[in-house]
Amino acid sequence: MKAAAIERHGGPEVIEVRDYPDPRPAPGEVLVRVRACALNHRDVWVRRGMREQRLPHILGSDIAGEVASVPGGRDRLAVGTRVVLKPTLTCGRCEFCKAGQDNACVAIRLLGGAVDGGYAELIAVPRANVFPIPRNLSFVEAAAIPVVFLTAWHMLVTRADLRPGETVLVVGGASGVGSAAIQVALVRGARVLATAGSEAKRKRALELGAEHAIDHHADSISSEARRLSGGRGADVVVDHVGAATWGESLRSLARRGRFVVCGSTTGDDVTLPLRQFFGQNQTIHGAFIGTAGEFGALLRVFAAGRFRPVLDAVLPLAQAADAHRKLEQGDHFGKIVLATD
Ligand code: ZN
Repeated sequence: MKAAAIERHGGPEVIEVRDYPDPRPAPGEVLVRVRACALNHRDVWVRRGMREQRLPHILGSDIAGEVASVPGGRDRLAVGTRVVLKPTLTCGRCEFCKAGQDNACVAIRLLGGAVDGGYAELIAVPRANVFPIPRNLSFVEAAAIPVVFLTAWHMLVTRADLRPGETVLVVGGASGVGSAAIQVALVRGARVLATAGSEAKRKRALELGAEHAIDHHADSISSEARRLSGGRGADVVVDHVGAATWGESLRSLARRGRFVVCGSTTGDDVTLPLRQFFGQNQTIHGAFIGTAGEFGALLRVFAAGRFRPVLDAVLPLAQAADAHRKLEQGDHFGKIVLATD
């Protein structure tokens, strides 16, 4: 098969399309012919060597395709079924997997992270990772779902237990996970404030349904969030930006507010104002991707047409390096997707 792989770490130029041995499915695994694979910013970190994995390595966590073979052949999953893959491999045996909390699995690995991913024509994955694509979605649209929507769903529905009528502040609302979080919050009946760094991105956040889009370069996020909530603050704040926005995000939080963090793009080191935190009965949740049960629930909402994948560009697999250059420029809105014929 053809795959866009890295044999060393570095810039986009280290991604080379070359022949690779076809994956051979182990017992219990399904061979999937990849039709589309979306990029995540994490792919850049893996490429640069900021995440550990063996080399050569095939990037790509967000994968849609069709079933090429099912070992044993007795599965209801017929060859040719259009499928989208849950992006995490989990053990199925630890206390968290048994409790349906498989995103906390003690042996969790991300496709395209610790194991080979979807910048390729074929991938073999456990049967448990394979979910049918809702009829109303294309391969490219389906590939734009897994990491960002599953993360947004886990943050808002499961960790924050978001309630109708609550106010959510989505920091970085134009990013992949931000644009998903806006949609998840709206489906839960919440009111959404978003932040974005450019006029074009604020416009897109408003088009997705955010009530206000705060300019996080020109304005104080917390002052605006308080002004727009009658001085109360946001019941839930979603932040993946990390150190650069942490303080302002925390200051935006209402009494009994829940802060959910799923990333640290601008740095890990932050301080916590303890007196505010305990004095106002606030909570911080960490969130990593989501569970198999949540993925199923999420796909049912897509099937009902209530979510839409946000797409920026579709490039052929052969242009994977160019897709990384585009991702690193940072002026895209929505997912950049690689498609194979
Ligand atoms: Zn486990």
